[in-house]
Amino acid sequence: MAIVIDGKAVAQTIRSEIADEVRRLSEKYGKVPGLAVVIVSNRKDSQSYVGMKRKAFCELGIKSFDIDLPEQVSEADLIKQVHELNANPDVHGILVQLPLPKHINEEKVLTEISLEKDVDGFHPLNIGKLAMKGREPLFLPCTPKACLELLSRSGVSIKGKKAVVVGRSNIVGLPASLLLLKADATVTIVHSHTKDPESIIRQADIVIAAAGQPKMIKGSWIKPGAAVIDVGTNAIDDPSKKSGYRLVGDVDFEEASKVAGWITPVPGGVGPMTVTMLLKNTLDGAKRTLEQSN
Ligand code: NDP
Repeated sequence: MAIVIDGKAVAQTIRSEIADEVRRLSEKYGKVPGLAVVIVSNRKDSQSYVGMKRKAFCELGIKSFDIDLPEQVSEADLIKQVHELNANPDVHGILVQLPLPKHINEEKVLTEISLEKDVDGFHPLNIGKLAMKGREPLFLPCTPKACLELLSRSGVSIKGKKAVVVGRSNIVGLPASLLLLKADATVTIVHSHTKDPESIIRQADIVIAAAGQPKMIKGSWIKPGAAVIDVGTNAIDDPSKKSGYRLVGDVDFEEASKVAGWITPVPGGVGPMTVTMLLKNTLDGAKRTLEQSN
């Protein structure tokens, strides 16, 4: 049976490390890290996700700057807001909650965030540096960073291993594959046009699944002893639940946990780690700025 990686417990350990560092910064510089969360719209899911993030910052002593803009805000006004945050020395990280309303060009807005405050790690220059040998991005995107942190804190070595990433999105699959490559794995990316994904996945020592396809990866697709990180978060009908649904990953957990060496559950695996990596990025951004300016 696989070791089940407890994302909640790992996240808790990292959060207490962050809280210690925040206290240290505050004693040394008289300042705490500041994170601005910009939310446009009154979408319930965005509101609740952002609410969760804001609560997490406050618990660790990170100052939260809340910018709530109406759904009808113009692209120019949103960009003006981003520029103000770029110029505010108490703000060390800026997060613009996606998706944005249709009349706003997401790419344009994200590119306006100062590179030094891009705690989501989505700026094309940060991703570009991640892809280049010998260059270091200022920030790594949170979910892929969470995947690698879970592997390293579970004692799974990456160097020289065969890794397969399922999915190639800008926010998860692609940066996860670049991170694994930087860590010296031999990386294959599986996407929706890949022929015979099963035989490719079966060769992997490390699988990162981020396709958004419920239970697509069966136990028989997993190499015995492999490390399986399941990013997929899919709601499927479940009449036995009060809500009428439950969350499952991209991996068939029941089957795969009998074969894998390590596996993350859904929920309780990568999810709790993603927000934690945002907090870590904010802390790192603040440390960099405070150390440079003092
Ligand atoms: P996207 O829909 O942007 O990307 C999905 C990727 O999976 C695409 O590259 C697509 O290929 C590929 N794909 C889709 N179907 C298949 C298939 N049958 N076989 C192989 N590849 C396939 O999703 P995201 O990257 O944003 O998210 C992926 C999953 O991770 C979702 O379930 C999401 O909810 C979850 N997630 C979880 C987070 C967490 O913190 N736990 C954070 C972010 C996401 P192609 O490019 O060819 O279309």
